[in-house]
Amino acid sequence: AYVNGVFVAADADGAVVPLEDRGHLFGDGVYEVVRVYGGRPFLLAWHLERLAHSLAAIGLANPHSDAEWTSLIEQAVAQSGAAEATVYWQVTRGTAPRAHTFPDVQPAVTMVVRPWTAPPAPRAATLLCLPDERWANAWVKSINLLPNVIAKENARRAGADEALLVRSGAITEGAASNLFVVHQGVLYTHPANRYILAGITRRFVLGLAHDLGIPVREVAWPLAELAAADEVFLTGTTTEVLAVDRILAYEADLPSLHQLGEERPRGLVGRDGPLVTL
Ligand code: PMP
Repeated sequence: AYVNGVFVAADADGAVVPLEDRGHLFGDGVYEVVRVYGGRPFLLAWHLERLAHSLAAIGLANPHSDAEWTSLIEQAVAQSGAAEATVYWQVTRGTAPRAHTFPDVQPAVTMVVRPWTAPPAPRAATLLCLPDERWANAWVKSINLLPNVIAKENARRAGADEALLVRSGAITEGAASNLFVVHQGVLYTHPANRYILAGITRRFVLGLAHDLGIPVREVAWPLAELAAADEVFLTGTTTEVLAVDRILAYEADLPSLHQLGEERPRGLVGRDGPLVTL
């Protein structure tokens, strides 16, 4: 791990966050995750580009140049000794007595390298449709992930692998992945506007589609048209490209998403217990 300029063992006493770090107090920070294959971070330049956008979005100066970030990440990977790994790193607004307005302090940088063990392949995912209740700036890779955490936990409780988030009748993305629909030879995915995180894997897949001459339309796919899809798949840094073979709506003891309208779902019970509802 790396904590503000010092490499430490991830589980050691040195790898701690101060009580008044603003990430800890407010979720006031942004993050990135990169996959390391064969000792090399994959698509790191694109991750650094997105980090710069996220930092600018929340008014935080980028504490490092791309060359410095690359060197830090490469050093962290080398010190971990792991060839297959993930690197999680975040920048918060720093440590200061709790007050909402921005303090005049240095941002805090922490990083953790974890060895990666791939899930048993091949597999396909089950999704649970849920209302997208995130803020309207999902394009910022903010460390505020409470709606994503609750959606993913509810998916788990319903026996699904991932939540499929729906805003105003249109599918936005997964709780931690982007979604693609294949329909009559055309690849559809939500436009990279404020309502989704512009995934690095999404960008890579769009590039592959372009190279292969597969037509792409970046438009939101309506939930009501989901049954018409020929194929559905997810993309993400750790998800990679994952086929979807089952999509659960609110069925059986869950009211349908259409019936819910703007109402908050209440008292919903999934296979593995009650869903968390607000
Ligand atoms: N959407 C959300 C909400 C995510 O958290 C992620 C990352 N886990 C993605 C999409 C996929 O982005 P990437 O391909 O950059 O990992």
